[in-house]
Amino acid sequence: MLFKLLDKNLILIIMALSVLLPIDQVVANDINNKVFVNFDTRKVELSPYVEILVDDTNSLTIDDIINKEGQYKFESVTEIGNSFGFSNASYWVRLSVELDNSFNDTLLLQLDHPSIDNVAFFCSDGKGGFETRVTGEYLPHATREIDNRVYLFHLSQQSGEIATYYLQLQTEGSMQIPLTLWASTAYIEHIDTSNIFLGIYYGIMLLLIAISLASFVNTRDKLFLWYVFYLISYLLFQLSMNGFAYQYLWPELPQWSSRITAVSAGFVGISALAFSGVFLQIWGDKHPYIKRLYFLLIIVNVIAIVMGLFGDYSSSVQLLTFLGMLMFPVIFIAAMASMLSGYKPARYFFAAWTIYLIGVFIQGLLLLGMLPHMFLTLYAMQIGSMIEIVLLGYALMMKIDLLRMDKNFAQAEANKYLNQLNEELGSLVDERTQELQVKNIQLSKLVSLDSMTGLLNHNASIDLLNRLRHAVLRYDNDLAVIMLDIDFFKSINDQFGHPAGDKVIISIANILKETIRDSDGAGRYGGEEFILILPETNINAAKELAERIRQDILQLDLDEIDNKKVTSSFGLAVFEANSPESNLIDQADSALYKAKEAGRNCIKVFESVS
Ligand code: GH3
Ligand code: MG
Ligand code: MG
Repeated sequence: MLFKLLDKNLILIIMALSVLLPIDQVVANDINNKVFVNFDTRKVELSPYVEILVDDTNSLTIDDIINKEGQYKFESVTEIGNSFGFSNASYWVRLSVELDNSFNDTLLLQLDHPSIDNVAFFCSDGKGGFETRVTGEYLPHATREIDNRVYLFHLSQQSGEIATYYLQLQTEGSMQIPLTLWASTAYIEHIDTSNIFLGIYYGIMLLLIAISLASFVNTRDKLFLWYVFYLISYLLFQLSMNGFAYQYLWPELPQWSSRITAVSAGFVGISALAFSGVFLQIWGDKHPYIKRLYFLLIIVNVIAIVMGLFGDYSSSVQLLTFLGMLMFPVIFIAAMASMLSGYKPARYFFAAWTIYLIGVFIQGLLLLGMLPHMFLTLYAMQIGSMIEIVLLGYALMMKIDLLRMDKNFAQAEANKYLNQLNEELGSLVDERTQELQVKNIQLSKLVSLDSMTGLLNHNASIDLLNRLRHAVLRYDNDLAVIMLDIDFFKSINDQFGHPAGDKVIISIANILKETIRDSDGAGRYGGEEFILILPETNINAAKELAERIRQDILQLDLDEIDNKKVTSSFGLAVFEANSPESNLIDQADSALYKAKEAGRNCIKVFESVS
């Protein structure tokens, strides 16, 4: 959360620490240290040349300064000494410039701290008096002599002249006085490079906002919205701090411009806490202390915003600066805690944060003068924040990716389990189906079999005969039917009892079962009457079979009937293709009747009348 305020405050901390170092921050210097400008001069950082007078009473005028020069002592400042923290005092700046004859350009004085409330520039009017140009963030943007996000003043100085300039600066925010003297040509060249860089910077920023919004639409993950909230707050804060917002967005609202800076800083704080809190899962119950700290910081941020809008702006900015300093380590600790608790996405966040810390550290070293000033010096803040923002965006994508991977893994596990379940269910269904089929077969047997003898029952016998008749008609096969009736069965029952009669029936059924082929059918047609259905059997083969059965029945030797002989009569019929409508059972039955008439215990074949 690169917080620009925070960085400023970091500067203050470093300054405070630097008191301990053997660097003299403010060096008393009575000798007016002139800037010498000649043909080669393009750009001069003015810190070593400017002298400062702090008017705590806020009452001095330019006349006091000029006329009672001995009374007020200007002091020169070191390079890092152009930062003065928060104070209501007026800061008077004195600068002397000596213009060589060889210099053939014009000069621009740049004050690169857009949020100074009141700025007054004084230069000689050439008649012994002073010309005053008044501007500042508390006055409309139109008061600036050059329409720019920073303060720029033309120095209309003659060649060969030495001139002294004064600035009176006063602000409720933090006072910084980074002054630069430019040859106009050099400034134009510089502004081109600078604008390209800033264009790219804000371009990336807007792109990130667009991508994050699109990602939110795609994923419905609210984290993207928090990130967008952070980016927009940060963007607004940046634009406020570097003067673009005032220049382009609300040039007519001078008083509000600085308040909006405070508000946007507050929103940066809130969105940074919200985003990191959601990202690092701080709002859960895993990190109760950090969670409370987060809550507290957000509440104080809200207070600072309200104060910045309606109350004491200066206190608000100071509070926000303090908050920025506090948030920095808190979010760092939160990232670490979340990472240590095993939450994988926190690693990316932690990495982004650490790299950002390194950036701040480098910037600190630059400010301390321990690193050479380069391109980085000017844009360190932007580069640092850009890296951080992009890394946080990357962290966000990685988090979504990790979550998706976790989700896919869970999905795969669920699918595996589901498949397993399906298989089990499938085999269970198969098993049940098989059981059912067996039961069905058993049931159909029960329905079609005679319970006492295990032969086909009456209906099943007729069914079988009908089915075979169709095959015979189609393929012109032989089909024979034998009807069999036990002789004088009634007397067996009468003599030995019904159970003995049953025994005889069962014994004869067994003979039938043993005698016939698998393709034949044997049924109990009535009480003591049986039917044999014999496919592919001609009349002679049927006669032979009947004779064999007749013999076997004669051989029966049953104790239940005192080993009495049992005889039976047989009627035969065969299917004839020339009379397909004929009823084999009736024919066999009439043959059987003939056998009974003929004295029983014999075999008769049906003969058609024709
Ligand atoms: P025929 O030689 O003319 O066939 O004389 P029959 O006595 O065998 O014939 P009839 O039809 O007069 O008698 C058949 C008897 O068979 C009558 C009936 O009580 C008996 N019966 C029918 N079913 C059963 C059975 O399941 N068990 C027993 N024990 N007797 C049965
Ligand atoms: Mg009988
Ligand atoms: Mg009978």
